[in-house]
Amino acid sequence: MVPGFIDAHCHLAAYARSMVTLDAGPPNASSISDIQDLVRQAARERPPGAWILGRGYHEFDLAEKRHPTRWDLDIASPVHPVKIAHRSGHTHVLNSLALKRVGISMETGDPPDGLIDRDLATGEPTGLVHGMNELLARFLAATQDSQAETGIRMAGASLAALGITSIHDASSRNDWSRRDLFRTWQQRGHLPQRTSMVLGWEAFQGDAADEGDSADDGHVRVAGVKIIVHETTGRLSPSQLELNDMVLRIHQAGQQAVLHAIDEKQVTAACIAIEHALKTSPRADHRHRIEHCSVCPPALAKQMASAGITVVTQPAFVYYDGGRYLRTVPSEELEHLYPVATLKQHGVRVAGSSDFPVVPPNPLVGIYAAVTRRAADGEHVLSKERIGPLEALSLFTVDAAHAIRAETGTGSIRPGTPADLVLLSGDPTGVPEEEIKDIRVDMTMIDGQVVWERA
Ligand SMILES: [Zn+2]
Repeated sequence: MVPGFIDAHCHLAAYARSMVTLDAGPPNASSISDIQDLVRQAARERPPGAWILGRGYHEFDLAEKRHPTRWDLDIASPVHPVKIAHRSGHTHVLNSLALKRVGISMETGDPPDGLIDRDLATGEPTGLVHGMNELLARFLAATQDSQAETGIRMAGASLAALGITSIHDASSRNDWSRRDLFRTWQQRGHLPQRTSMVLGWEAFQGDAADEGDSADDGHVRVAGVKIIVHETTGRLSPSQLELNDMVLRIHQAGQQAVLHAIDEKQVTAACIAIEHALKTSPRADHRHRIEHCSVCPPALAKQMASAGITVVTQPAFVYYDGGRYLRTVPSEELEHLYPVATLKQHGVRVAGSSDFPVVPPNPLVGIYAAVTRRAADGEHVLSKERIGPLEALSLFTVDAAHAIRAETGTGSIRPGTPADLVLLSGDPTGVPEEEIKDIRVDMTMIDGQVVWERA
């Protein structure tokens, strides 16, 4: 029996949607014609004009080694608007009817943060759009809401079956209405997990005063403010000065900064912004976080440790995407890729998560990957970054609890704490390491209530 698993960075609404949308990733689809078959199947099940949504493809996994286009999807159904999301969640491919519905044509210019892919000869949109989630979400809101409740029910049950008893939703579009929606779902019994969520920057700006309920009252609680640090055409966005200012405001509001940063430049910027906030207004136990921290050389790890930064990592990325990393990540980045052992050796607190639905939520696969650094096809990804099984188990329990500021009630088994417990078919710290990923969850308990039990 181990403490209930905690996923410190995930996307609940997207996961719920994934439960009710086509799975266009492997092993379900390994070619564009497989995706066409899935769309044809879905088209038979719904009236013309109704959206068909899919997700999870990656051009690397497709036999054709390219993204599908609008024309590929038109062949499967010209009379349903079709949108298939890339595994990254930031790129989508739309068929011709879907492009028309969302108002993208030859004349549409690229939005500030996005890119409409075009045929080089004709200038015609190919159906592939990057970084346009806001626009797409606006058009799909009604469709997605109607499917959401079914999806949430399935999501809550599936997480319980994986032993997950607490989640921290890290979606940058989270706002107070999303919080209320999560609460409604929780009250209806769809979501047994203890749930906390970051606020997006917009929502934090809009209503920073509404913090009265961030104390744990057993409901969905708000913890942290999310900022995505990225680069557009080689420049940091937000800029270093803007980022410093934003982090300082979060810090001075007594909140945790939750900074999405992937490569070394972004991680460095996030680290500088946190150092700036700490220097301006020193505060102990700030719990500021860097999410992903995918590329991090030892010197940067050292810098993060001295600022007291927590890294929220996704060990299972190595399992699901390791083969692709080995073939596509430049060697100077590959040698510092998800360096969990290096981070820990330098004194950085590291918490585990899956970023579901980017990869499946199973914490035992995350623990396995942290221990073995093996991809699904057996290849090793930076073996020197392996950690011990007890440390790996801690990532998803005691360390994750600390990262979401819930360590007094969850993440460990102690007298006086609520009984969030998982009964496993084997001991992840005792079985041969190859077997960790095959350990089954036999029972999940949240606050003393059995929420899932193997039949
Ligand atoms: Zn995420």
